[in-house]
Amino acid sequence: MAAETLAARGWSVDVYDGMPSVGRKFLLAGVGGMNITHSEPQPAFVGRYPDRRDFVRPWLQAFSSDGLRQWVHDLGIETFVGSSGRVFPREMKAAPLLRAWLARLRQDGVRIHVRHRWLGWDAERNMLFKVGARGGGIAGEARVQPAVVVLALGGGSWPRLGTDGAWLPLLEQQGVEVSPLKPANCGFDVNWSEHFQQNFAGRPLKQISIRLRGADAPQEAQLGECVVTADGIEGSLIYALSSSIRQRIEQDGDACIAIDLLPDQSRERLLRELSKPRGSRSMASYLRQRARLEGVKANLLREVAVAETWHNPEKLVDLIKALPLRLVAPRPLSEAISSAGGVPPAALGPQLMLNALPGVFCAGEMLDWEAPTGGYLLTACFASGRLAGEGAHLWLTRHQTRGPIDSNQING
Ligand SMILES: Cc1cc2nc3c(=O)[nH]c(=O)nc-3n(C[C@H](O)[C@H](O)[C@H](O)COP(=O)(O)OP(=O)(O)OC[C@H]3O[C@@H](n4cnc5c(N)ncnc54)[C@H](O)[C@@H]3O)c2cc1C
Repeated sequence: MAAETLAARGWSVDVYDGMPSVGRKFLLAGVGGMNITHSEPQPAFVGRYPDRRDFVRPWLQAFSSDGLRQWVHDLGIETFVGSSGRVFPREMKAAPLLRAWLARLRQDGVRIHVRHRWLGWDAERNMLFKVGARGGGIAGEARVQPAVVVLALGGGSWPRLGTDGAWLPLLEQQGVEVSPLKPANCGFDVNWSEHFQQNFAGRPLKQISIRLRGADAPQEAQLGECVVTADGIEGSLIYALSSSIRQRIEQDGDACIAIDLLPDQSRERLLRELSKPRGSRSMASYLRQRARLEGVKANLLREVAVAETWHNPEKLVDLIKALPLRLVAPRPLSEAISSAGGVPPAALGPQLMLNALPGVFCAGEMLDWEAPTGGYLLTACFASGRLAGEGAHLWLTRHQTRGPIDSNQING
């Protein structure tokens, strides 16, 4: 986005990426349906960046979710709003969008250099790149000294896509304050019994609600689904709470969530049904017939319940409506959808230029903000890229004696 913004202003732009092709995480996001943004009104939208509203608001004011949709349409890709308010490209894929975008960037004169891994600055303030070998060629290095730099190096999740967070020490060495990267929108470890782990890993827990237990936790339960894994639990419902859960684990060593296994059944109804005599039926068939509780849900109940629960309808209903599950650690950053941490607001000016490094701007997930899934991640990345591009343009205008070069020079 920064490259596009600068090229549109007539500047000569080079994009460097360490991987053999650009946009690999963007393409991966497309595998799950490419939720590009969300249609909710701006105030609610900004509220999705808790603790960082003031940081993100100006980006979104300059480039809103509507602006982003229009930008996608201008690339020849239609979008639609799903029943949840999430916005997707009509084909639910990232590849056609990325293809169209790269073609337009090239047309605008942007040069893209892949297999260029940035290693920091040398003593002469050149940007130093390790250049990967291509088609039997020899690997080498490149040094460039651009008039302005926009870094958009991503967070730390899925390092095999090129985003390994190796830039953090490079910026720290230059006196830039950075916060460690942490998993966001991630799963969590649970100490399952061997029986439960072996029999239920991979099974979805559908139509449940979850809230984080504890006095200072957001008490509104969230409805949805998640998945039992060999190590614990993951999925959209867990991701939505992952920031609070992670913070609780950092603070207390673990976090307890309460799962309502049957949010569509009232406590009163369940108590009435489960107070009826069980007779000779097994507990499994009793729960299935009286409460429609079966499969992985019934077994999760069994995993957590103690012996006396089964003979006490009150306690059984309490457990079904607020099953406590202890989460002991977030899954590793490499597995997360996104990361928290990175370059904090205090290290940046209003147009995302690093205070410690004049002429160097930052954008995207490498900035210290986090948001739930729902299109909020890509929207903030796009919008911050645009703002950084505008900032870089202003910087160049003020500091270059030469103005933007004309398109003949770019293409030449
Ligand atoms: C499985 C998955 C699904 C997702 N689905 C969605 C979704 O549906 N909606 C949504 O909004 N978000 C989604 N996201 C998140 C979204 O993809 C990211 O937030 C977004 O791609 C971040 O953009 P970015 O430009 O900041 O960084 P990235 O897209 O991570 O790009 C950073 C680039 O920097 C390059 N790089 C890093 N270090 C160096 C270096 N030292 N030298 C040279 N190049 C370097 C990398 O190769 C990479 O190409 C998903 C993420 C994952 C993992």
